[in-house]
Amino acid sequence: CGIVGYIGNQEAAPILLEGLSKLEYRGYDSAGISVFDGEKINVIKTKGKIKNLRSLCHDGADLKGTVGIGHTRWATHGAPSDVNSHPHLNAGETISVVHNGIIENYLILKKKLENKGYVFQSETDTEVVAQMMDYYFDGDILSTVAKVLARLEGSYALGILCADNPDEIIAVKKDSPLIVGLSDDGNFIASDIPAILKYTRKVYILEDGEIVRLTKDGVTIYNMDLEPVHKEVTEIMWDV
Ligand code: GLU
Repeated sequence: CGIVGYIGNQEAAPILLEGLSKLEYRGYDSAGISVFDGEKINVIKTKGKIKNLRSLCHDGADLKGTVGIGHTRWATHGAPSDVNSHPHLNAGETISVVHNGIIENYLILKKKLENKGYVFQSETDTEVVAQMMDYYFDGDILSTVAKVLARLEGSYALGILCADNPDEIIAVKKDSPLIVGLSDDGNFIASDIPAILKYTRKVYILEDGEIVRLTKDGVTIYNMDLEPVHKEVTEIMWDV
């Protein structure tokens, strides 16, 4: 399973597809990407190989835009299927979420949301994150993410893209791997370094409990209290 994300000056979809291919070694049963096209978030996802995803979206040509997130899934909750593949959206399709890990308390959260009228599309634990982001949305993704995280139990690497704040990607790491890549041409998230090594050698290795806000020009890292955290950039000296 794996996560990639990109925000920058280049078309996002080919970068996401390339990154996902580099994460294939981690194992997966489904793959998908979502890209913001200037107006809305478009999602293409499918059970099966990245090759299938590539042909579905014509190697990314069908998904125009310079900010996006991608995922390879290793199903834990809900069988491998197109609808259970990530990214997951809220009902309004304004918030897109990719997740590696397990939300242990998702059933309780799902019931609460269903009681408030939320309708779920998938059987995944992950979809509660997209729907909770919608429920708690306060205009600022970072503070909304903090409210959601306070209610999540389990392990997660998350990438979140929001059509109302499309100039940023928010990412979080707790008990699942996630790194950040930095370049003059845009910034990246990924489960592992090989996914982005073609584009940059400058990375932040995230610790548990860190929340990252990426824009095309910069990256800020926060702790769970949303206080900025200073981190050293790691320069990768090896090749894949
Ligand atoms: N628990 C999530 C799911 O089953 C994420 C699995 C993963 O890490 O790929 O959809």
